[in-house]
Amino acid sequence: SPEVRLNLRLIPYSEDMWLVVARDVTKMMRLEQVRRDFVANVSHELRTPLTVVHGYLDMLEPDDQPEWAPMLREMQRQSQRMTRLVEDLLTLSRLEAQEGVEDATVAMEPMLSTLRREAEALSQGRHRVVVEDAAGVDLAGSTRELHSAFSNLVSNAVRYTPAGGTITIRFAREGGGAVLQVADTGYGIPAQHLPRLTERFYRVSTSRSRESGGTGLGLAIVKHVLNLHHARLGIESEVGRGSTFSCHFGAERIQPRQAPPGAAP
Ligand code: ADP
Repeated sequence: SPEVRLNLRLIPYSEDMWLVVARDVTKMMRLEQVRRDFVANVSHELRTPLTVVHGYLDMLEPDDQPEWAPMLREMQRQSQRMTRLVEDLLTLSRLEAQEGVEDATVAMEPMLSTLRREAEALSQGRHRVVVEDAAGVDLAGSTRELHSAFSNLVSNAVRYTPAGGTITIRFAREGGGAVLQVADTGYGIPAQHLPRLTERFYRVSTSRSRESGGTGLGLAIVKHVLNLHHARLGIESEVGRGSTFSCHFGAERIQPRQAPPGAAP
């Protein structure tokens, strides 16, 4: 039987009475599903041709036509960007289709080492990278999805911080829960942009974001991953001084840290 989805609202009417307003959102949700499927299918179909173009472009060496070199480099750069875009769209579709996440142990020590390595690789020595691991606990959730969220924050921090700046990745306890923060000393974000930052393709400065090689989907992915973990994203930023992105995890996500295999008891 066709399922009907209702959105319910309770409105106080008198001292002991409430009005119930039920809105039928079945059609809206069906349209949303069609949109999601469409994006997922298009992204999937684009993947193979892109891989082929990208692969052959990487093999071309214009030895006899040196004037082609800059054009070829630009084509490689753009095809790389398209590949990243398709990958991010597929990630978002996967996240949107998920209702919850597994509750596996997310080992935070290796996670933080991976994030450090990623920051250093992206920065190529242009920034100082600091990692502070003060929490001494692990998280419960999906390692794959949390890694993609944290790594998006790290790549933003590197891309929106001029050379000489510092990127700090901090994991600490916070009340009964924990917080993972990625702080930078970069360009910062004007306050009026903060509420819309996690929307798909929302950008503060289109030219800077394009140049930095972003897809415009990074923070949308972060928000989805955190929602799936019932975690909250906090953003603090000051223009010219830098930004701090904080992922707040509740007490139910905390797990005692496992000793690494082979460690002395
Ligand atoms: P993009 O791929 O464009 O970086 P994101 O969704 O990751 O897309 O980020 C959205 C926008 O938020 C960016 O275009 C950029 O303007 C801004 N932004 C994100 N992270 C930072 C940061 N650490 N410092 C300054 N601006 C940032």
